[in-house]
Amino acid sequence: MSSSAALAQVTVPLLDLKAQYNTIRDEIREALDRVIESQHFILGPEVEALEEEIASYSQCEFGIGVSSGTDALLVALMAIGLEPGDEVITTPYSFFATAGAIARLGGLPVFVDIDPTTYNIDPVAIEAAITEQTRAIIAVHLFGQMADMDPIMRIARRNRLDVIEDAAQAIGAEYKGRRAGSIGHLGCFSFFPSKNLGGFGDGGMVTTNDPGLADQIKLLRNHGYRPKYYNKVVGGNFRLDALQAAVLRVKLKHLDDWTAARRRNAANYRPLLKLAGLLANDSSTTTISDLQPVAVPVEALDSRHIYNQFVIRCSCRDLLMAHLKSRGIGAEVYYPVPLHLQECFHDMGYRSGQFPVSERAASEVLALPIYPELPEGSLATVVDVIASFYSDVLR
Ligand SMILES: *Cc1c(COP(=O)(O)O)cnc(C)c1O
Repeated sequence: MSSSAALAQVTVPLLDLKAQYNTIRDEIREALDRVIESQHFILGPEVEALEEEIASYSQCEFGIGVSSGTDALLVALMAIGLEPGDEVITTPYSFFATAGAIARLGGLPVFVDIDPTTYNIDPVAIEAAITEQTRAIIAVHLFGQMADMDPIMRIARRNRLDVIEDAAQAIGAEYKGRRAGSIGHLGCFSFFPSKNLGGFGDGGMVTTNDPGLADQIKLLRNHGYRPKYYNKVVGGNFRLDALQAAVLRVKLKHLDDWTAARRRNAANYRPLLKLAGLLANDSSTTTISDLQPVAVPVEALDSRHIYNQFVIRCSCRDLLMAHLKSRGIGAEVYYPVPLHLQECFHDMGYRSGQFPVSERAASEVLALPIYPELPEGSLATVVDVIASFYSDVLR
């Protein structure tokens, strides 16, 4: 085929799930066999065991397995009793589901801008957006680093708002020693395959320390049955299945090693980019220039970043991404369009220029390969190709 000849050979993919599977193949097959032999596929003992393990890993009292990260957000908002017309303050710089879940219940996502160094919601901006209709805050821990939770919780307490942590990208991340999903009233996790703890399909988890909310979520994820076929409330089918739970239980045992490898890769990118003369920042600067076209992620003080993504800022981002791809290097933009500018929210009246920090991020960010099994030498390959772009291609 002539078209395949034109395709670049992939030298460094953005993510290599096959490489990970090869390291745990036997354990996974044994776990899958166990479930298949039992023929118990929906909820049940595997799901309950995973719920306990994730809750404990995330320093929470309760975990409730659900069908996806999206459904975790949806059922969390149902559990706090979000009603049509209620406002939920959140970030415009996230995966769509964060705001989509609010809108699906008739709520209004009220966006406020982000901190330029962490890409997470700016607590100062939250306070100014609170109205009589505000019901909750969804803080997203983007790319694997937690939002500044202390001021967020203070504002929430003062205004009697519920706080939901969208921890889909942040399992095991820490803020002042506290894990993602353990600080807000509810934490929402995703086991989408590309997350740090990824299943063999869709899956998610809600965490909480509140027994009442835990009970409500258990009720809602299974049609509001109590007992079966007697519907106390209108819920849905947000159940996690046993095959996913069995896979995730195997993978959870390896998660800390994988996180350590991601953090090591992140630490190794920095000197390589600096040596190549590309770096605009060592710590907190986020301003890039033609002379120093790349800024690396900033780790906030007292924060354990788990690097679901290693996201740089760079000048001429779209050209650089095309160049990387033409050399077989995986790179991706998370996210090219901030949520307030999405077509589906057009009627809410947001306009371009309203959240300049988010909009600038959307035009400058680029995720580079960081996955744990990245072969030694791949980081240098990526940096070499970036350096060649700025020295040869762009000049
Ligand atoms: C992945 C993700 C979700 C949604 O999770 P799914 O399991 O794909 O439904 C929600 N929020 C954020 C920030 C995510 O990254």
